[in-house]
Amino acid sequence: MATNELLRFTKKGIYCPAGDFYIDPTQRVSKALVTHAHSDHARWGMEHYLAHEDSLPIMKLRLGKQISAQTVRYGEEIDIHGVKVSFHPAGHIIGSSQIRVEHKGEIWVASGDYKIEDDGFTVPFEPIKCHTFISETTFALPVFRWQSQQSVIDEIDAWWAQNAAIGRPSLISAYSLGKAQRILQAVDHSIGPIYSHHSTIAVNKAFRQHGIALKEDLPLTENVSKKELSRALIIAPGTSVDETLAPKLGDFALGMASGWMMLRKMRKGRAAHRGFVLSDHADWDGLNEAIRATEAERVILTHGYTRQYARWLNEQGIPAFAEKGN
Ligand SMILES: [Zn+2]
Ligand SMILES: [Zn+2]
Repeated sequence: MATNELLRFTKKGIYCPAGDFYIDPTQRVSKALVTHAHSDHARWGMEHYLAHEDSLPIMKLRLGKQISAQTVRYGEEIDIHGVKVSFHPAGHIIGSSQIRVEHKGEIWVASGDYKIEDDGFTVPFEPIKCHTFISETTFALPVFRWQSQQSVIDEIDAWWAQNAAIGRPSLISAYSLGKAQRILQAVDHSIGPIYSHHSTIAVNKAFRQHGIALKEDLPLTENVSKKELSRALIIAPGTSVDETLAPKLGDFALGMASGWMMLRKMRKGRAAHRGFVLSDHADWDGLNEAIRATEAERVILTHGYTRQYARWLNEQGIPAFAEKGN
């Protein structure tokens, strides 16, 4: 790669030499622009952070209240050493942003993680025209095609209602940042009470304090009775609960919400849990649609099926290469 690139891939992360800043750096740097608050993007120990205003409450929760951070709104333009920088909706989780960088007429977009479908809660993905687009490829194989969120939520509601009818708690495994809020907002609260694991409760509390309205969930604590849980949907990041809570849950039903459930769905055979194909990332069609919409002259792929997807894009006449990945 030429050395005069607007963004450069380095050991510490994506670096902008003209602006002297990093995007989602993995090692300590002086200025870190953060696409979103997931822990593989917003890392501890940066001297100074720049992030979307809705990412900051979770960054403070996870990285510490004392972090030095400046926030921006979507579309707000800031100047860093003559480089124009702006954040645009990525539709992945609350606050998630694509970072647009412009210098001397050259425009690059680092998209971070993104999802195309409007989940009714996160600000939807917005395609940004650019010369070079940096994309993740987590689900960049034709087998990954998502159903609409509503049809997956209908499946979750039906499963939960069936379990509730026989007095069996339903535990759904979902990341505490992103998936948990999507499920909380979209499921049918008339079926029963919703309890969240303490890590999810902490995230939700930070959002509510920040002024983001979330539907009601209750903390899953030792004080909750077995009877209260019998009709409940429990949202938790893992597939098990603390030992002290296990007797109260008894023989609970386990569900998992993830894009990876697609692979399991295709394999016949039985599993101990119910899989719901719900992802915060773009599927095959979503990636193709997003990349076309950028009208990028070149695409750089960074995470997941990078080489396979680069080959596919090249066949479609879109110059693309894998920076890292499989
Ligand atoms: Zn993410
Ligand atoms: Zn990620």
